[in-house]
Amino acid sequence: MNREPAGRAKTRELKGWAAVSDFDGTITLRDVGDHLLLHYGFSDRKTIEASHSLKMRVEDFMKSAFAGARLTEEMIAGFVRKKVRARPGFRELILFCKSRGIPLEIVSGGVDLYADPFFKKHGVKVKSFFGKARVVKGGLRITYPFLKRMDLSAFKASRVAGMKRAGYKVIFFGDGPNDLKAAALADKVYAAGRLLKLCRERGVAASPLTDFGKAVTFIRKITTLPAPRA
Ligand SMILES: [Mg+2]
Repeated sequence: MNREPAGRAKTRELKGWAAVSDFDGTITLRDVGDHLLLHYGFSDRKTIEASHSLKMRVEDFMKSAFAGARLTEEMIAGFVRKKVRARPGFRELILFCKSRGIPLEIVSGGVDLYADPFFKKHGVKVKSFFGKARVVKGGLRITYPFLKRMDLSAFKASRVAGMKRAGYKVIFFGDGPNDLKAAALADKVYAAGRLLKLCRERGVAASPLTDFGKAVTFIRKITTLPAPRA
């Protein structure tokens, strides 16, 4: 039982590690939203490339790109089952965090209509924030109730900041420009794709994200080291 006095000392108490992760292109090998739009011909490479800029809000792109995408829930779920691949070690990371009581959450500009079948396929449940997509006439209507007035990039950063305030050291996984603010606040970053390049350009320390197994090894190692003396 911890007998620390209440107040500041208690909130600063180090609780160990927590993890925050992006979904598209991080947990999955390809961005599922982009892949869907390209596969069914609702967007083109040039438009998608332009959407991955620091200036573009992912959530605005998603809303407009899918507004004219005539897809059904069944089409999306089938696409996820057949075409969407998880990054190696994903299940291992989820199970490892669960067994060690390491908080893990996914924060994404993607949507429930593809995230739900993905987690179902892999038989895991994870705390997550995804946009809500509903099939309407002519396409999908996407909303992000959790964002309130924040943009996605700031929201991701706020999740990392919140875990740090609660006393955790935070490990962050991401691949896109909208992950940069969160990565800059994290204690350890695994980055793929555009995020890795941006981190290198801006002096944010980051390890290349290839396999989540490496992150599991990292947490295992760091949590078995003797605690530094105060
Ligand atoms: Mg991503």
